Amino acid sequence: MAMIGFIGLGNMGGPMARNLLKAGHKLRAFDVVKANLDAVVSAGAVAAKNAADAAKGCEIVVTMLPAGEHVRSVYTGEGGVIAAADKGSLLIDSSTIDVESARAVAAAADKAGFAMLDAPVSGGVAGAEGATLTFMVGGPDAAFQRGLPILQAMGKNIVHAGAAGNGQAAKICNNMILGVAMIAVSEGFLLAEKLGLEAQKLFDIASKSSGQCWAMTSYCPAPGPVPTSPANRGYKAGFTTAMMLKDLTLAQRAAAAAGVATPMGALAQSLQSLNAASGQADLDFSSIFKMLRGTK
Ligand code: NAD
Repeated sequence: MAMIGFIGLGNMGGPMARNLLKAGHKLRAFDVVKANLDAVVSAGAVAAKNAADAAKGCEIVVTMLPAGEHVRSVYTGEGGVIAAADKGSLLIDSSTIDVESARAVAAAADKAGFAMLDAPVSGGVAGAEGATLTFMVGGPDAAFQRGLPILQAMGKNIVHAGAAGNGQAAKICNNMILGVAMIAVSEGFLLAEKLGLEAQKLFDIASKSSGQCWAMTSYCPAPGPVPTSPANRGYKAGFTTAMMLKDLTLAQRAAAAAGVATPMGALAQSLQSLNAASGQADLDFSSIFKMLRGTK
C-alpha cells in the first residue's frame, strides 16, 4: 500500500480520495476549502497544511483541480509540488486541462527528475463515487505501469493514450464529438416534432439506423424515449452545460494552436455558450434541446 498526497478534494477529488483510503492506501490530503479537506480527513486522511506539505513523504501525488492555471501553480508555482516532492515520486494530474499546460507541467516535472502522468477522467461524480471512472492517460510507459494500481482503485477502464498530454487530447476530442453529436440529435428530434413525428417513433427507427449514436440511445435530449436521460428529470445534470462548455472551449484552443479547422466543434462551443448565457449553465448539457426548441 502506498503513501499518497492528494490535492484538490472537490466533487470529484473527494470521492476519489475516499476510494484510495478504502483500498488501504495512506493519504496526506490538501484543499484550499477547509470543509472539503475535513470531509476527507474524517474518512481517514491526514490533513496537510498546503500542497507542498501534502506531497512531502509520499510515493505518489494525485491532483484533481479545476483548470490549467491551478495545475500550473500547484506544481510549478512557489511552494509547489515539484519543489517539495520526495525524489522518485510519481506525479498524476487527473484534472481536465489544456494540452499545452499538461505538457508544460510534465516537462517541468521531467526536468526536475519526476515521472508524470496526465490522467483526466470521464464518468462524472457517480463514477468517482463508485470507482468506475475511465482514465485517459498520457506519459511514459514505465510511469503508466507504476500508476496503474492506483488508478484502478479509483476507476474501471484505464487506457494509456501515449506520451505526455495525450490523455488530455483524448478527453477533449471525445467530448468535442459528444458535444457536436448532442446538438445533431437535438435538431433531429426537434424537426421530427415540427413534422408531426413522435419522439418515440423517431427513436425506434433512428436508434436502429445510421443516425444511431450514444447521445441518442443513452442520453436522448428529447423527453420520453430514454427513461434515465436528464430530459426526463427537467434536465438536472448529469454533466452540466458549464462543464461541456469548458471542454468545448479547451478543444477550440487546442485546434487553434494546432492549426486544425473544427467548424462543427466551434459551432457547438458557440451554441453551448448561448445555452449557458440563457440561464442553463447548471442544467445538463442536453438542455441545448430545450434552448433550440425555444421552450422554458
Ligand atoms: P470542484 O471545483 O468541485 O473541485 C476542485 C477542488 O480543487 C475544490 O475543492 C477547490 O477548493 C480545490 N482547489 C482549487 N485550487 C486549489 C489549490 N491551489 N490547492 C488545493 N486545492 C485547490 O471540481 P470537480 O467537479 O471536482 O472537477 C475537478 C476536475 O475534474 C476539473 O478539471 C473538471 O473539469 C474535471 N471533471 C469533472 C467532472 C464532473 O462531473 N464534476 C467530470 C469529469 C472531469
